[in-house]
Amino acid sequence: MKAFRRFTVRVPLPTELADLTVLAHNLRWVWHEPTQDLFATIDPALWHATGDPLRLLADVEPERFLQLATDAGFRERLAAARDDLDRYLTGSRWFGDTTAEHGSTHLAATGIAYFSMEFGISEVLPIYSGGLGILAGDHLKAASDLGLPLVGVGLFYRSGYFHQGLSHDGWQVERYPVNDPTSLPLELLTDADEPVIVTISMPGGRVLNARIWVATVGRIPLLLLDSDVPSNDEELRGVTDRLYGGDQDHRIKQEILLGIGGVRAVREYVRVTGRPEPTVFHMNEGHAGFLGVERIREMVGRPGAAALDFDTAEAVVRASNVFTTHTPVPAGIDRFPRDMVNYYLDADQSGNSRLLPGLPVTTVLDLGDEADPGVFNMAHMGFRLGQRSNGVSQLHGVVSREMFADLWPGFDPDEVPIGAVTNGVHGPTWTARTWLDLSADDEVAQAAAVTAMSTDDIWQVRSTLRAGLVDEVRRRAHASARDRGFTEAELGWTADIFDPEALTIGFARRAATYKRLTLMLRDPDRMRRILTDPQRPVQLVIAGKAHPADDGGKALIQQVVRFTEDPELRMRIVFLPDYDISMARDIYAGCDVWLNNPVRPMEACGTSGMKSAMNGGLNLSILDGWWDEMADGENGWAIPSAEGVGDENRRDDLEAEALYTLLEETVIPLFYTRSATGVPDRWVEMVRHTLTRLGPQVQAGRMVRDYTTALYVPAADQFASICADDFAPARDLADYRHQLERSWPAVQIAGIDESGSGDSLDADSPQRVNLTFTAHVALGELSPERVCVQALVGRVDSDGEIIDPEIAEMSPTSETDPSGRTLFRATVVPTRSGRHGYTARVLPRHPQLSDDAELGLVRYPVGTAEDVGPGSSSGSLPEPA
Ligand SMILES: *Cc1c(COP(=O)(O)O)cnc(C)c1O
Repeated sequence: MKAFRRFTVRVPLPTELADLTVLAHNLRWVWHEPTQDLFATIDPALWHATGDPLRLLADVEPERFLQLATDAGFRERLAAARDDLDRYLTGSRWFGDTTAEHGSTHLAATGIAYFSMEFGISEVLPIYSGGLGILAGDHLKAASDLGLPLVGVGLFYRSGYFHQGLSHDGWQVERYPVNDPTSLPLELLTDADEPVIVTISMPGGRVLNARIWVATVGRIPLLLLDSDVPSNDEELRGVTDRLYGGDQDHRIKQEILLGIGGVRAVREYVRVTGRPEPTVFHMNEGHAGFLGVERIREMVGRPGAAALDFDTAEAVVRASNVFTTHTPVPAGIDRFPRDMVNYYLDADQSGNSRLLPGLPVTTVLDLGDEADPGVFNMAHMGFRLGQRSNGVSQLHGVVSREMFADLWPGFDPDEVPIGAVTNGVHGPTWTARTWLDLSADDEVAQAAAVTAMSTDDIWQVRSTLRAGLVDEVRRRAHASARDRGFTEAELGWTADIFDPEALTIGFARRAATYKRLTLMLRDPDRMRRILTDPQRPVQLVIAGKAHPADDGGKALIQQVVRFTEDPELRMRIVFLPDYDISMARDIYAGCDVWLNNPVRPMEACGTSGMKSAMNGGLNLSILDGWWDEMADGENGWAIPSAEGVGDENRRDDLEAEALYTLLEETVIPLFYTRSATGVPDRWVEMVRHTLTRLGPQVQAGRMVRDYTTALYVPAADQFASICADDFAPARDLADYRHQLERSWPAVQIAGIDESGSGDSLDADSPQRVNLTFTAHVALGELSPERVCVQALVGRVDSDGEIIDPEIAEMSPTSETDPSGRTLFRATVVPTRSGRHGYTARVLPRHPQLSDDAELGLVRYPVGTAEDVGPGSSSGSLPEPA
């Protein structure tokens, strides 16, 4: 019978076991194996089936708990696990230890708020879809391990991302699980026993309300906004119904809730808990971009004389916002129709926003300007409101600097101020236990232990992990076929698919077009020969979800599924539906080779190959994303890329051909070349090299340390300095930008004189010379210390372009030329031979700017094409009213 109404009961555990609830509610258990073992002891079968402590505690028979309550051994282990958690939460950690050393006292006293649309922490909290979310989850876990003062901010989705099934004919079927927050490791944020609610104005006088669930990830609180509250109307209750579902209108409401509601949630959390206010705000992708305008609104709306004007507030916000871009594909950028943003900003009679009271609608709209005037670009707003920004691998940094170069006109792409922090993955989450158990310390100690292992022992571990995967493949293949409607009688074969000794290749990722799920099937007969070779068999595990609206992706999956159904092949190739964190862990641990064949350079970073590497998998990948910088010839293989071949089909043919050849001639022979004892020595040396050298580099701990030193600490310091003296530096910067607007058109380099040190300036002479340059610079109303004048000297190509110029700052002199222009001077000693050229340029300078290119303004000598700035060009970086 169907329930008329539902409610939640919590039968308390015996008091002796109360700590189990504590352990279940802190998600640190996700990466703490002893705590997992403790839960497993309670009911091994149930643990194996669910992997979910809260479900376990709810489902185990009360008698079992009574029994455990009197079991001294169990209680001792429970106490030890609880002690360990307490030590983990309170003990000293990297960040605390290095605060003094890194001068990060401002950050230590305040903290970081990290915003993301999705967080993949554990399969028990299904509020993630793929790489971006898992990266965010790993960021929180590593921040916890490092003791970083960080709070996560995201959305709580009533339906998690979908579970993937397959129809009988191999078409993806989506099932949406319903997340019941009361049975998840979440706690409602309350104040005096009342739920804390944040509110956001919607057009038409409506109000979007959201409550806040707090997940605890080790030391890190994660605030999740949830619009499913009775005070919302039906439509607004549905704002957080699902991740990446719905249309653009739905999405913009989610992003308004994340960005604006998220800042409000942080403020409430701080108020209720008494924790310090974060000063650094990190936008993990453009989805969180509205946090910047909300922070401006807060400062503009401060009471009375404490209120800041827009430009001063913007200066403060920019100084302390960090923006990370994740997509190298222009089509992947988050964009909305400008009209839609305008509608939600909801102007009143005076043109001010009702969504963001006190902010002029047109000014906010300009923050999202891009080439298409009808479009509001969230990434552009992220860059404009984030003084520090980065891509997620070195290559992605290069691509991003080109892709967004228009925001900094006049600068070469390599001068565009977008840095790079290469992603990492959380070792304790993703590394198989056998490797973790080698050392109780960190990944460095584990690497040292691997160095000391014998070849045979390493091979033994790899073989055990592969065998574990084979068991898992059989179990999942059987379940999947049952689910697709095949009868038990038709399924006998699933019991013996795969071979625990055969070379095992993994390919698991979202079925996005650029990832080319079916590249390996380009020549099906050749693939068939590779898989079915009787002497040197190869087996292939494939997994991945297509976005529910992406029929193209679903067709690719179907093509793979059909290929795997061939009776001759099904013993060697399998598609496992419902790729998620738990399946991912098994696949990464057990595969010998991790295959990745994206269209270069469309993979911003890619992280699955990193997870494989930390388990001793060898990567076989196009040199894209992280692999481009970390492949060293000994940790796997680079599939040659046919980048530059315009015809997509031909490119796919060429790259597939290269992949087959690498497999046939290099990878497979190496795996099957065995010593007298049956061990592939050379292979194992590559595994050892991967574990010891690559392992430590791909850690999320390395990534979060990089973010901390390169971005968070400088941003927190700059927040402190720009707010000092009642925001005097922020006001000064805002004034300076107004001044630039007025006077930049008058700034000019009228000429450059050069003189050598005794030598004549003979461009064809190979001799080294001292060159002194004097630039004649008209400054308008700017003072000499408010500009930076640079001489650029270097070899020139046949078009007269200076290649890799040396840049020397020119000092202002007290001299002027007859026209009253200030003279700037520098002496340069070229270090290379060859034909040289030089030029000079003027850039804005202010102590609160962190990069010379930051404002996108630059002036070259009169007559140079690159001359850019207000007056000579439009559409440049942020010049809000
Ligand atoms: C790591 C991971 C991803 C991301 O992998 P990419 O290589 O970046 O495509 C996606 N889904 C799951 C479940 C993962 O564990």
